[in-house]
Amino acid sequence: MNAGSDTAEVKLDIESAARYLNMPQLRLKGLLDRRILSQIWNRSPYEGWDEHQRLFRFDKSVSKIEHGSVLYQKDGSFELIRGFPKIQRAMLLDPTLKKYFSNIETVAVEEKMNGYNVRLADIGGKVLAFTRGGLVCPYSTERAGQLLKRDFFDDHPDLVLCGEMAGPDNPYVPKDIYGIESLDFFVFDIRHKGSGAPYSLKERRKLAGKYGFRQVTFFGEFLLNEAPDEIISIIRELGIIQHEGVVIKDPQMVLNPIKYTCSQSNCADLRHAFKFYNDTGQDYFFSRVVREGFQSVEWDEDEEELQKRCFQLGESILRPMIESIKQVRNGARIADDVQIRVKYQDTIPTYKDYLKRLGVDAIFGVPQRIGDEYIVKIKKLNQSTNDKTESMCKGELW
Ligand code: ATP
Ligand code: MG
Repeated sequence: MNAGSDTAEVKLDIESAARYLNMPQLRLKGLLDRRILSQIWNRSPYEGWDEHQRLFRFDKSVSKIEHGSVLYQKDGSFELIRGFPKIQRAMLLDPTLKKYFSNIETVAVEEKMNGYNVRLADIGGKVLAFTRGGLVCPYSTERAGQLLKRDFFDDHPDLVLCGEMAGPDNPYVPKDIYGIESLDFFVFDIRHKGSGAPYSLKERRKLAGKYGFRQVTFFGEFLLNEAPDEIISIIRELGIIQHEGVVIKDPQMVLNPIKYTCSQSNCADLRHAFKFYNDTGQDYFFSRVVREGFQSVEWDEDEEELQKRCFQLGESILRPMIESIKQVRNGARIADDVQIRVKYQDTIPTYKDYLKRLGVDAIFGVPQRIGDEYIVKIKKLNQSTNDKTESMCKGELW
């Protein structure tokens, strides 16, 4: 166990929690026994809590409670931060939009930013940043504290702010494509604690605007039969500037949104994944290749366009992999280079513990002072790709 973890597990008050969650006590007990519901281990972000304040997270979806949901217990009372719902993908825009949104007249289109998902909520007097899986990320929590004023959470303690952390000082998805100097938070959802019910798009943009938050770009609201063409032209433009894609939403947020992405972003994902080819799940590659096929067909590409697509897809697969093999053959180790920027030096060891506990093998550089902050370079070692490539280079069989 490392410094950031709990030594003594605090018991969940099963009787009260079951009542709050509207779930039979036996069922809840079963979830605890199987560790589908377990206490969150990293305490450091919220040191200062007394022993009656604890967070538990759902590691799987249970009934209507999504994976990544977080249950906060304080004495006998509770709060629930619902997990962020999965966003399904359209492979072909035209038939999918018409079928999926057949009950509504217009759809709203927003940019899908490429960073990582964070839910911010005031829990026990502190704004905490939850990851998709329902852990408290110490880095994101510190950044949120720097990026956003508390007034929103003071005025609306019952709301959860969902958004994308994007920019280069990003330990998960560093991107230089948004003209962001370090890291910023872009709101794309406001939801209620407990029910997870979302604000409508208009109300959400209004409320986020009132507090001066940055928000994902809004491209407009389109009639359903015009939407596919409009989106295709937005996607072509976004592709040119290497942005990721769009999320298509029911303006009332009754239906769940769906997503659609640019080929360029697909290829960027593949370039990164094939550099670490043995550390990435195979369906990650497969799904991205299939997307290219569907997009090419929907866009009715001629021979020249098709050749360009084939070439780009092939390059994004082969070049980074070849580069990795050469590097390992020459005795170097390949690593994913990322960096974080913190205000408080204490965040560094806390974050290091957090990554270690997640099983990420990382080497932290010496903090460099920039103004009143510190930049720390982090080398994430991709052990499996390194080991596999090395053994191939030594003549082992695949
Ligand atoms: P999911 O299960 O939601 O599909 P995923 O890990 O496969 O998750 P992505 O393919 O990146 O994720 O797509 C969904 C994610 O897109 C959301 O979880 C959110 O973090 C991100 N996102 C970026 N911009 C928006 C936006 N405008 N609206 C909603 N989500 C957005
Ligand atoms: Mg994403």
